[in-house]
Amino acid sequence: MDRPVVLVTGGSRGIGAAVARLASRAGYAVVIGYHSDDAAAEKVLAELDGPGTTIRADVGSEAAVEQMFTEVDRRFGRLEALVNNAGVLEGGSRVDQIDERRLRRVLDANVVGPFLCAREAVRRMSTAHGGHGGAIVNVSSAASRLGSAGEYVDYAATKGALDTLTIGLSLEVAGEGIRVNAVRPGFIRTGIHARGGDPERLTRLASAIPLGRPGEPEEVAEAVLWLLSDKASYVTGAFIDIAGGR
Ligand code: NAP
Repeated sequence: MDRPVVLVTGGSRGIGAAVARLASRAGYAVVIGYHSDDAAAEKVLAELDGPGTTIRADVGSEAAVEQMFTEVDRRFGRLEALVNNAGVLEGGSRVDQIDERRLRRVLDANVVGPFLCAREAVRRMSTAHGGHGGAIVNVSSAASRLGSAGEYVDYAATKGALDTLTIGLSLEVAGEGIRVNAVRPGFIRTGIHARGGDPERLTRLASAIPLGRPGEPEEVAEAVLWLLSDKASYVTGAFIDIAGGR
């Protein structure tokens, strides 16, 4: 197969699904990673313009991440790009109300997951490991800059960790053919807000966005695809804020 292969974690919904669809149109074979919703993942797969597959794996589990990458090796035999997009949040809590269960869930999905996936990707892409190079894009959040007081400082802090991973890893592998960048979306119209317990969040906060509206998943996907592409060949360790001016 001559198409480059991209693995999009959290590719079954929202921003990840938009990235998967756009990557397919751009000529990638697309691996849709997801956590539990088989039907949602299959629906995105059916919307692709070219080859792809779905792989169910909890990114917070080392064994599951290793299996997912082994499965990519088996089905495609190559990997050019990783989009660390899977993420969760739980809303409506000040730090003085946060419990350990919530902290561990958010940290596992949003920090442990991207680290494990980046590790497996580097082992395959790095010229130091016999690979041919590649690109990684981390889906961070404007929350890493803003802190999300009164809502989810824990989530914001996981995105701060992802920003630091982006900087540090980009420096580690710059000489090994791999570029590592991040996008930082603001309020984007996906189901994550309802799943975090606040379905009216975007409507309530829209007036605080300088551009006057929430963003669409496709507007984030455009930046992700640019960062993955050769058009961004001199860009690494960089952040693109996609937050309507916030
Ligand atoms: P979403 O619609 O809720 O989709 C989340 C995706 O992640 C789903 O495909 C889900 O799979 C997957 N996922 C969740 N936990 C996982 C785990 N432990 N292992 C593997 N996959 C997992 O979310 P979204 O709004 O598109 O957000 C995507 C990314 O953008 C996240 O990292 C989020 O923090 C970031 N972001 C979003 C916004 C926004 O306003 N929407 C703003 C800034 C940043 P299942 O469907 O199978 O559960």
